[in-house]
Amino acid sequence: MIKVEAEAWRTMVAHAEKTYPDECCGAMVGETADDGTKTVKLAVPMRNSYEGPQEDRYELHPEDLLAADREARARGLDLIGIFHSHPDCDAYFSQTDLKNSCPWYSFVVLSVQKGRFHHANSFLPDADQTVAEKEELIYAEDSDSHSAAAVRR
Ligand SMILES: [Zn+2]
Repeated sequence: MIKVEAEAWRTMVAHAEKTYPDECCGAMVGETADDGTKTVKLAVPMRNSYEGPQEDRYELHPEDLLAADREARARGLDLIGIFHSHPDCDAYFSQTDLKNSCPWYSFVVLSVQKGRFHHANSFLPDADQTVAEKEELIYAEDSDSHSAAAVRR
């Protein structure tokens, strides 16, 4: 299970909507509890460095990834996942996504329809990157925990 705190979630949605109709990408920083539950405390927007049409592709910039990792360590946290958007497309995990993934991170995909956030899913690639299992994703839409929305798909 992966939980995204309200402020981090707002950062992810804002980045996905701002970069529309291109794909966005970024890092998720947080911690993993003993029971395996991950909590995203900070989202770090990154540039899409794919050299070509970006409406259905993204590529992480290694420097950005290193910077996010440094920022995580400075706060006593870990880099626990990567997020990216699917403009006018469902939040599924494509073969390209699988190929470009790595097994030790969670991958959150945000579907952005007509420029607005629509829905999201999280995926966990297996060790061989042959399949990615859906992971339960919980995010808070605002800081009031009573109205936190749980999204299960
Ligand atoms: Zn994708």
